Amino acid sequence: MSTLSQNTDGFPVDLNGFVRQCAWCRRVADIEGRYRLVSPTLVHGASHGCCEACAIRFLSRGGKKPLAA
Ligand SMILES: [Zn+2]
Repeated sequence: MSTLSQNTDGFPVDLNGFVRQCAWCRRVADIEGRYRLVSPTLVHGASHGCCEACAIRFLSRGGKKPLAA
């Protein structure tokens, strides 16, 4: 048992024990929950979500859906 909340890659984990990583830009959330850490690869066992930047990017883009005929 470790009191340090880090996974084996050294990234901080959330209360559920998961590293939070953006599945799009692969940024990793730090202990404050901000996606400021950069990982070159997908973190094994991470909880893959969407960071704020990517959320904004997709939301702004998702306003218009191409209509399929
Ligand atoms: Zn992102």
